[in-house]
Amino acid sequence: MKSFREDLQQQLQERKQQSLLRQRRTLFSPQGTEIILDGNHVTSFCSNDYLGLAGHPDVLQAYHEGLDAFGAGSGASHLVSGHMAPHHALEQELAEFTGRSRALVFSSGFMANLGVITTLLEKSDAVFEDRLNHASLLDGGLFSGAAFRRFPHLDYAALDTMLGKSSAPRKLVVSDGVFSMDGDTASIPDLIEVTSKNDALLMIDDAHGFGVMGGEGGGLVGQALEDGTVINEENLQILVGTFGKAFGVSGAFVAGSAELIETLIQFCRPYIYTTAMSPAQAEAIRCSLNIVRKDRWRREYLSQLVYRFRTHCENLGLEVLPSETPIQAVVISENEKTLQASQALLEKGLYVSAIRPPTVPTGTARLRVTFSAVHTEAQLDKLLQGMNSVAAIVHGAVS
Ligand SMILES: *Cc1c(COP(=O)(O)O)cnc(C)c1O
Repeated sequence: MKSFREDLQQQLQERKQQSLLRQRRTLFSPQGTEIILDGNHVTSFCSNDYLGLAGHPDVLQAYHEGLDAFGAGSGASHLVSGHMAPHHALEQELAEFTGRSRALVFSSGFMANLGVITTLLEKSDAVFEDRLNHASLLDGGLFSGAAFRRFPHLDYAALDTMLGKSSAPRKLVVSDGVFSMDGDTASIPDLIEVTSKNDALLMIDDAHGFGVMGGEGGGLVGQALEDGTVINEENLQILVGTFGKAFGVSGAFVAGSAELIETLIQFCRPYIYTTAMSPAQAEAIRCSLNIVRKDRWRREYLSQLVYRFRTHCENLGLEVLPSETPIQAVVISENEKTLQASQALLEKGLYVSAIRPPTVPTGTARLRVTFSAVHTEAQLDKLLQGMNSVAAIVHGAVS
């Protein structure tokens, strides 16, 4: 019989043969646009720090002051003695920011999603998810034990049909706002129409939209509200955002009705049985929220970077998925070529991640380029140059 370790070795070997083995690279610098990666200085186009707040002096200062005022750790879970003034203030500011009755802070988006879905659904219920939803949403649906259905990406007619056939007592439709690996967006008005018609609940996880979309950074939902869509706690019951992307820190929140939030406080096990995030971190996030709301120029500048990048790639005949967000996916298809392209960029001092299955569907391996409001024009120029080499690899001019 094979030993446990031999078993694992074989599994890892198979991964490697499919060019799917993941590699962690170590950063020896702060997160930013110029980083030290495994000892090399490179320009990074792969963090989710879209607004450049991870290194913002005001955010750092708020963190320092939070440490001085409240110490390093929260010391307990929220329901014991870990719910501190910074968490409470952050919740209130998030409720106001999202225009919802209440908000609840979680230590991570993954836990928020698992927690919300498993708390709200029973075995007799049904959950409907966009095929390209984030892993935490899919896992939440699976772990809930409810009937689990996936609808084709952004295909709300198919969703409508699926919902129409379901007789589950509670039906929950779940979608990313901005899709993390493609950069495209859900249609909030369409989702509201379909869920309202079929008496289903709607949950939007806008981890990549908050801070980046909408005039005040209110994300895809904030933008839809500005466009005049009627959105409230009756037709979009559950809104999730995270602090690890545009906010430049980490953690997450759920916003919704007072009843929703109170239900989570009482019954959501991943909220109850975990240590509250450090109070200093909550202070840093409060500072980020403030910058997110007031620094419109960061969003405007991001759009300019994206526009220049897309135009250049289109001229090179590269396939860039439709996206107005800082997430730009250059689809190369084969895993091997995608790695080659990423390697070619690295040799030019550009760090762009190669995203492969199972993170994305088989045959859609891609370079995932992400922009930050602190990228300079010169850094963009360097990337555009690098894309010339990518185009050569894709078009087979280089073996
Ligand atoms: C990143 C992400 C999460 C996970 O959030 P973390 O705070 O990093 O755990 C959840 N949903 C989506 C859509 C994400 O992109």
